[in-house]
Amino acid sequence: MKRAIFDAKTRLLMRNDRRAFEVMVRNERLGGAAFEELSRGAATRIALHAFDSSPFYRELYAGAGFGREDVAEAGNFSALPVVTKAALRDAGDAVLSMTVPSSRALVSQTGGSTGSPLRVRNDQAAPTAAMWWRIYRWWGVHPADDMAFIYRRLRQGREALVYAAQWWPSRHLHLDARAITDDAIETFVRDWQRVRPRLLVAYVEGATAVATHLARTGRTLPTSAVSVTAAMLQPGQRALLESVFRAPVFDTYRSAEIPWIAAECEQHEGLHVAGDQRLVEIVDDAGRAVDAGTEGSVVVTDFSNEVFPLVRYEMGDRSRRLDGACACGRVFPRIAPVQGRLADVVRTPSGRRITGGLSGLFLGDPGAIRQMQVVQAADYAVTIRYVPTTPGGARDAAATAVRALRTLLDDDAVAVSAMEVESIESQGGKARLVISHAPDAP
Ligand SMILES: [Zn+2]
Repeated sequence: MKRAIFDAKTRLLMRNDRRAFEVMVRNERLGGAAFEELSRGAATRIALHAFDSSPFYRELYAGAGFGREDVAEAGNFSALPVVTKAALRDAGDAVLSMTVPSSRALVSQTGGSTGSPLRVRNDQAAPTAAMWWRIYRWWGVHPADDMAFIYRRLRQGREALVYAAQWWPSRHLHLDARAITDDAIETFVRDWQRVRPRLLVAYVEGATAVATHLARTGRTLPTSAVSVTAAMLQPGQRALLESVFRAPVFDTYRSAEIPWIAAECEQHEGLHVAGDQRLVEIVDDAGRAVDAGTEGSVVVTDFSNEVFPLVRYEMGDRSRRLDGACACGRVFPRIAPVQGRLADVVRTPSGRRITGGLSGLFLGDPGAIRQMQVVQAADYAVTIRYVPTTPGGARDAAATAVRALRTLLDDDAVAVSAMEVESIESQGGKARLVISHAPDAP
């Protein structure tokens, strides 16, 4: 019934999104060569649009020696300069396209948890609805199904009423990730049992907090699919969420700047890039592509934001490309779940910076812990704080992790220890993998 009403409503009101959705579902199954051509064409087109209409990009590309014909040449795309968050912040409105009507610009603010906030614009004309409809379909969820959300922002008053009317007759439950108290969770659980949502969409930390509370009293909240975002999903967290929500967990990669970048399919073998809408490159410090399997910096191009072009935009995250085809048969390339932030760095007194491998310290026994965090003091001493799956049950795994970290650091002057904790602190629903108070060596 709900699906039928949704169908009628979108036929009437969202004709463009429906059309985009049908094309997107077909694009997943293109042949390899046809997909490459689509991707290359879209990347070149948006870079040229940026050059032609955004003063920021015109100056950036011209300054690097690229003329209009060079930008129009598909083979040059991966040599175009990478755009950083700091550069966008400094450029301000110079990033905006001069040819796209400003009425299409939707303001989106990125979180300030890893630096100062950045104000970007999403494009109202982008087929964003179709993008999430398609990904929900990978999970067996229909956009009209009842859903629950654990988010960092709640709609209030009139905005909440408009939202509910828009979604009628589908029901959406919300829990504010910034204020997860036992009382708030109990209210959420009561609403859940009344609505029985088919999908939970949540920040990793929010979902973990709710699941931990329920697991303590042996309760479950069955649903069909759980989708998480905004932080690294640690293996123990996935196991906890699957046991409480009795459903597969789908990791997603998205941001305020670029929504719906990548998501897991039913195979759970990495995240498929929504490759007809975005290009994801994994690059080294010089902006050059690294081999599949090698960890590097994530650089994303959004094909569908013409208002505020994001071309070769450095996300500030680390990941790696996965080789080979996915068993699901979709042509879209895959990346490993995001392995932490570029800012997740442990330092040694001798001046080394360790950025990779930290997320894998417990890989020998991933089920032993729910979550961990590496904390480095000002004197370089490192503590692995971890939440065990059962109290006292991860001492061996922690000892192994300490040894693994000592090997990574390769510096006897750095003290390494492990500490069992009840929870890992998060800021606004996001927990950092590494917190370092140590200075860069002189
Ligand atoms: Zn797949």
